[in-house]
Amino acid sequence: MHTGDEVYVTRTGKFYHYFDDDCPTTSRILKGKTSAKKVKEEDAIKMGYTLCKHCSKEYAEDLAERKGCGAAAFFFLTTGISASFMLLFFGT
Ligand SMILES: [Zn+2]
Repeated sequence: MHTGDEVYVTRTGKFYHYFDDDCPTTSRILKGKTSAKKVKEEDAIKMGYTLCKHCSKEYAEDLAERKGCGAAAFFFLTTGISASFMLLFFGT
């Protein structure tokens, strides 16, 4: 999803960052406290930048969250089914 997107690189840092203010560095960039430029992610990699650990962690958590939503939907579905079973039981 992020591939080919623009990322932030700071002047002094070795890492590039996604535009996600969960990362403390991106947060500072967005607030104007750290100067950074936007480059394509592939160009950042070519220039020797590596993905910020914080950003990569957030990205992994994003993916996990999306999976988590699916699990939650499944959970609600199953509780919905057991609720109707209960209704059936008490109805008779
Ligand atoms: Zn970052």
